Amino acid sequence: MEVSKKECITVSIRIKPTLKSKDTSCIQVISKEPPVLAIPERSQAYHFDNIFSDEIDQEEIYDKTVKPLVDHVKKGYNCTVFAYGQTGTGKTYTMGTGFQGLDDLSHVGIIPRVLNDIFTNHADNNEFVDIGISFLEIYNEKVFDLLQPDRKTPLSVSGFVVQDMAIKIIDSIDSAMMLLELGSKKRHVAETKQNINSSRSHAIFTVYFTGRNGTEEVKGKINLVDLAGSESVRKTGNTGSTFQEGVSINKGLLSIGQVISALSMKSAYIPYRQTMITSILQGSLNVDNYISLIACVSASSDNITETLQTLDFSQRAK
Ligand code: ADP
Ligand code: MG
Repeated sequence: MEVSKKECITVSIRIKPTLKSKDTSCIQVISKEPPVLAIPERSQAYHFDNIFSDEIDQEEIYDKTVKPLVDHVKKGYNCTVFAYGQTGTGKTYTMGTGFQGLDDLSHVGIIPRVLNDIFTNHADNNEFVDIGISFLEIYNEKVFDLLQPDRKTPLSVSGFVVQDMAIKIIDSIDSAMMLLELGSKKRHVAETKQNINSSRSHAIFTVYFTGRNGTEEVKGKINLVDLAGSESVRKTGNTGSTFQEGVSINKGLLSIGQVISALSMKSAYIPYRQTMITSILQGSLNVDNYISLIACVSASSDNITETLQTLDFSQRAK
C-alpha cells in the first residue's frame, strides 16, 4: 500500500535554545501556521511541516514528529526518524541518548518515549507481542554492533542485510534502557581510544515490534538515527584518514538527502547503493513507509553558514 507523499515524509526544524545574552537574531519564525521561517541575510523563505522554536519541549517534539510513527509501527510499517544537524545543536539530546538530567522527565528524549509507548500499549493488549532492539554504529562506512562485546570488528553487509547483527528481545523498558546506555557508553569508550568522537559516526537504534491481529502476525520497526555532524567535512581538515572520514560521513549525509528527495519527487530510481547508511536502511526508506527528519539548528549568528546548510538540506528533502 503506497502512503501519500505528504504523509510519508515529515520535515521539522528544531531551534536550540541559546543564552539570552547571545545574538539570536539569525532565524526568524515568520509564521507558525503554516510554518515558515526566514534568515535575514537571505531573501528566501523556508517552509517545513513543523518549526519548533527554542521554548518547545521534548514532549511536544515527540508528539508531533514521532508518536504518529509509533502508531504506524504497530500496524506493520517500517518507520525512520533522523536527527540531522551541526554538532552541538541538540541531535543527541533530541534522540534521548545524552543521559544527562534524566531525573527531570521534561528532558527525556525520543528513544525512551518510543520504548514507553510501545511497552505501554503492549500492557493494554493481552495478545502476544515481541519487542526487540538492535543498536548499530556506522563509522567510516563500516558497521559496528553496539550490543555485542567486541565492537572493534565490523559486521559484514550483503545487499541491505547486516550479517550477525544482534537483536535482543526485551521484556521491560528498563532492560531496553540499560542496553541503550551500555551501547552508548561503548561508543564513547571506543571514541576516546581512537581519538574520534560521536559527531563523526551515525548511530542507529532500532525497535522491532511483532504483534498479532487476530490470526495475522504484524511486524513493524522504527529506526532512530542520530546522524554524524553535518559540518564534519569543513571542520575536519583535509589530510589523511581524517579527510577520508570526513568524505565518507558527508557522502552518507548527502545520500540520505538524495534518497529522501527522490522519494518525495516519486522518482523511479532511488540511489540507495551509494553509501552504507542508505543501503542498510533501504527496507525502511521507501514510499510504503514513514520518515521523519528532524533538523537541529543553532540560532546564533556565529553558526549562520552551518544553519543555512542545514536549512537547504532540509528544504530539498521536501
Ligand atoms: P549534538 O548531538 O547535535 O552534537 P547535543 O545533543 O550533544 O548536540 O547537545 C549539545 C548540548 O546542548 C548538550 O549539553 C545538550 O544537553 C544541550 N541541549 C541541546 N538541545 C537542548 C535543548 N533543546 N534544551 C536544553 N539543552 C539542550
Ligand atoms: Mg551528538
